[in-house]
Amino acid sequence: MIYLDYAASTPIAPEVAKIMIDCISDTAQTGQYANPSSLHAPGVAAKKSIEAARQSVADLLHATPEEIIFTSGATESINTALKGVIYPKLQNHQPCHIITSQIEHSATLETCRHLAKLGAHVTYLKPDHRGQHTLEKIKAAMKPETCLVSLHWVNNEVAAIQPIRDIGQYCREKGILLHTDAVQAAGKIPIDVIADHIDLLSLSAHKFYGPKGIGALYVRKSPQVRISPLHHGSGHERGYRAGTLPTHQILGLGAAAKLVQSKLSTEPTRLKALKLELWHGIKQLIPTAEVNGDLDLGAPHILSVVLPGVDRDALQQKVACSFSSACHSSDITVSFVLLAMDIPVDKAKQSVRFSMGLFTDETDIKGTLSILEHCLS
Ligand code: PLP
Repeated sequence: MIYLDYAASTPIAPEVAKIMIDCISDTAQTGQYANPSSLHAPGVAAKKSIEAARQSVADLLHATPEEIIFTSGATESINTALKGVIYPKLQNHQPCHIITSQIEHSATLETCRHLAKLGAHVTYLKPDHRGQHTLEKIKAAMKPETCLVSLHWVNNEVAAIQPIRDIGQYCREKGILLHTDAVQAAGKIPIDVIADHIDLLSLSAHKFYGPKGIGALYVRKSPQVRISPLHHGSGHERGYRAGTLPTHQILGLGAAAKLVQSKLSTEPTRLKALKLELWHGIKQLIPTAEVNGDLDLGAPHILSVVLPGVDRDALQQKVACSFSSACHSSDITVSFVLLAMDIPVDKAKQSVRFSMGLFTDETDIKGTLSILEHCLS
């Protein structure tokens, strides 16, 4: 099986796994199994490792460690960011309007739907044919009561990169908070929360060679962003997220953040070359194939293509790829992202997403092309 579904989840890198295993099995006998809130030596050792991991996540974003809150993954980060901003406003009977888009991950879409039921007004922006939102469209959607813009940075199906820096600058000028779902951006493109004017940012370790079940929420400290917590308890994570910290998970996230940062200057170029090789090979095999989104402007690790005449089920038996975003593939056969981009239903039904990462090489691309040839009717 060739694995080309990195946008759904990545393998854990060996160096990340080692750090996690060492932590769980406590090979260094430092007592990292202790509760990191405990004041004895093993507790202090666990806390020290956690703070080093927090620094690595902060470094990846150009943030400070105090601005990083550990969560169970991006779904929780997104819920915390959106509900954390909107709940207090609803409780105070303040009008609030959120701008988001039709092609967000369900973590954002479902949270917005929930908030709308409670009284928030939500605008779901329609993307253009490349899967992009322009600053002009965001400006046009603004209302006097707009208090939050939540947009993903990189689309998980078609790789479109949103102009987050321009949007961030505009939102800052207007005093409106910007949350970005950076799940497909972290470790793939440079992120600088200061220069990009980001107030809240969500990420997930399992999208960049870390474990599942751990993520982070960046909450800007200066000027300070205030959100109400979702979980109440013992005041962990500066009161934003109660619950004993999972040391081995956090160490995995920290090691993964360090790993992708060390490769940020080379890996995107390598992935882009593999993506182009795959696309040119596909075009030779299937002249009627089309790219969904913009081949040149998209993120380097995702290629979504319309493949007329290909038996997608046969392909998926040999190449781990995706037909629509993984979170929906069990109940929806046509991608809502592609439909929102006005891609006709028949083309959406023939579409396949290939996504690549650290362990993808030319052999995988050649192998995929040869399998594709056998899946042509
Ligand atoms: N946002 C995007 C763009 C994603 O691709 C995903 C996962 O597929 C998520 C959010 C949810 O992340 P998690 O699995 O950490 O909850």
